[in-house]
Amino acid sequence: MSIDETYDELVERLREMYEISSAASILSWDQRVNMPPGGAKLRSRQQSRLQELVHKRKTDPELRDLINKLHDHRDDLSFDRRAVVRETKEEIDRARKLPSEFVAEKSRVTSEAYNVWTEAKQKNDLESFLPYLEKNVSLAREEADYLGYEDSPYNPLLDQYDPGMTESRIATLFDELRTKLVPVVDRIKESDARPPTTEKVTERDWSSERQKQLGETLVRQIGYDMDKGRIDTTEHPFCSGYVGDVRITTRFNSSNPFVSLTSLLHEAGHALYEQGLDPETWGTPLSEPVGMGVHESQSRLWENMVGRSESFWSWAWPRFKETFSDQSSNLTRDELLFILHESEPGYIRVEADEVTYNLHIILRFELERKLLHNDLEPEKLPEAWEAKMEELLGITPPNHRQGVLQDVHWSSGAFGYFPSYAIGNLLAAQLFQTAEEEAGPFDEAFSNGNFDPLLSWLRDRIHRKGKRHRTDELTEQVTGDPLQVDPFIEHVKSSYLPYYE
Ligand code: ZN
Repeated sequence: MSIDETYDELVERLREMYEISSAASILSWDQRVNMPPGGAKLRSRQQSRLQELVHKRKTDPELRDLINKLHDHRDDLSFDRRAVVRETKEEIDRARKLPSEFVAEKSRVTSEAYNVWTEAKQKNDLESFLPYLEKNVSLAREEADYLGYEDSPYNPLLDQYDPGMTESRIATLFDELRTKLVPVVDRIKESDARPPTTEKVTERDWSSERQKQLGETLVRQIGYDMDKGRIDTTEHPFCSGYVGDVRITTRFNSSNPFVSLTSLLHEAGHALYEQGLDPETWGTPLSEPVGMGVHESQSRLWENMVGRSESFWSWAWPRFKETFSDQSSNLTRDELLFILHESEPGYIRVEADEVTYNLHIILRFELERKLLHNDLEPEKLPEAWEAKMEELLGITPPNHRQGVLQDVHWSSGAFGYFPSYAIGNLLAAQLFQTAEEEAGPFDEAFSNGNFDPLLSWLRDRIHRKGKRHRTDELTEQVTGDPLQVDPFIEHVKSSYLPYYE
């Protein structure tokens, strides 16, 4: 086989795996959106069968031979083909490093741990969950050993969510972030100014039907293509699908329409990334998102930099007033903007505002790395959590449910995932700053409901690049610098502090 033929054969195999895994992803969408409870048993069998089919193909010695042959000839390949070979090789090497008994054991333990955690959280019963936490930590360490690492067992775990990111790199970024962020949080805390959220929002009744109607108008306007997507309702909003069919979900809170409006913009940001991937190279890394951090940068950019901006609301305000003429009768546009910039330390990460959110992530990062380095006994975790929370946010959770038990990640064995959220927040600000310089200013366009200059820029610089570069490399290529803290700090200072002066 010539090199061209070998490459074509590789693409053929990658597409076969993609067809199976994208079918699995639609099944899992269905499970969360439509499926009656009675379908659960067979659905879980269908899912593991499909996973098995993908795994078999991924670990097929013939695929390894194809990759190795192309890898040996990598200097003769184009830049794009080299990226496909590099990324695929890494992924199949990774799959081959983990013994199937380990994978089975991890999946068994984490699914049990997840069930125990769900109940433990409900009952605020930390004791029952601790043994599982201990097992999950030791499985994570074992996984790191199989995958191999140089400096830290945390690195190979981080790498699977944000390719190329390391513990020391994140620690440096987070130290700077924390030092610069805490004074901003303190200035807001010291101010007496508070938005009229209770009187003007939460004491009124906001129709879900109308929230849905307005939400759809907003996400269509920023560029979400409803011919290649749809919106449904779920308890936990998410985005999933594949090129040509990228679906989002939201939930409605009848006492606060901004929960669904901002979360729809967030999920639409994820969806714009997926809808913007190159359809021609589907199934290969050239048409895949870089990682979780870059994905989250896209959702946060549309949710926060765009969706909370004055110019966005210049356009959206008349639509909001028209949709909710009764409920918003004595609400002004400035009050609405202040409500969207409400900031106050709270216990729950997923409810945290843009300013305090990253401190929740720093807390988890610091504890999680200690767990992996054996510097913290899982049973001492709750104490450590409370101490960190007090140190970073100045508050102590009243119970474990609102403390150490709140997140699903550690119960499902997803160590190394949390930093992606903060990476996304930092990157969103950095990208938006560069986009403004190169394709903006956006104020006038946004005020007219024209988001195309920004979306086109993102399509070109991020979406169409697929997985050609890793997180930091892509950031540097697009913005001229590796990931930075300052653009985010400038963003929160300039958008939040004026309200609290
Ligand atoms: Zn997200």
